[in-house]
Amino acid sequence: MIVLKTSRELALMKEACRISAGALKVAGEAVRPGISTWEIDKIAYDYIKSQGAEPNFLGLYGFPATACISINDEVIHGIPSKTRILKSGDIVSIDLGAKKGGYNGDNAATFACGDVSDEAKRLMDTTRDSLYEAIKFAVPGGRIGDIAHAVQSFCEERGYGVVREYTGHGVGKELHEDPSVPNYGTAGRGVRLLAGMTLAIEPMINQGTARIKVLPDGWTVKTLDGKLSAHFEHTVAITKDGPVILTKV
Ligand code: MG
Repeated sequence: MIVLKTSRELALMKEACRISAGALKVAGEAVRPGISTWEIDKIAYDYIKSQGAEPNFLGLYGFPATACISINDEVIHGIPSKTRILKSGDIVSIDLGAKKGGYNGDNAATFACGDVSDEAKRLMDTTRDSLYEAIKFAVPGGRIGDIAHAVQSFCEERGYGVVREYTGHGVGKELHEDPSVPNYGTAGRGVRLLAGMTLAIEPMINQGTARIKVLPDGWTVKTLDGKLSAHFEHTVAITKDGPVILTKV
């Protein structure tokens, strides 16, 4: 069931999303050679708590941390660890959210650790740009397929693989609500977009094959060919005046 948010609810969403964006910012600023992913997770946790909010990934479906931190060929859902130490050249995807006032925010970004390759930069830039392309289509009267097609065409034209098995989603009182927001599809098809919808749009883009595998830890998703992957996400409100990015810092 798709829940349309009232203006009162959107104001609450905005606050949860502001905190989510702030936590992603401080976590991203902590990315540097020598730091563990556990330490980054702790920084995000402390920030969210300092804002009177709750980390909404922690405990969800049994996930053990505040942030999913996924390095290089890890696509999503990497588990922070004291033994995962970042080194120069890594690309680091951080996905996290905060809940406050009964509503959720959700956002992600991929950060460069030290000096990264031109290929890695191009993948990160393309993934980020595809998110902003897709957001342009988050308007009343459009379709979910417009968003999906925008990501897919933008990334595939540049030679990248678009992950199929995981998608964006509605977000509100629940972190994961309807509808599903895939990163591949046909323009003009799918759920009709209405003012009051709040969507987490989140391209997961691979340097090589789109195919992925899940590690035995049951969480970490990796590219099948071991090439790099990037992930960017915003929570976006569809309004009569157009898309509003709620997780803007
Ligand atoms: Mg999400």
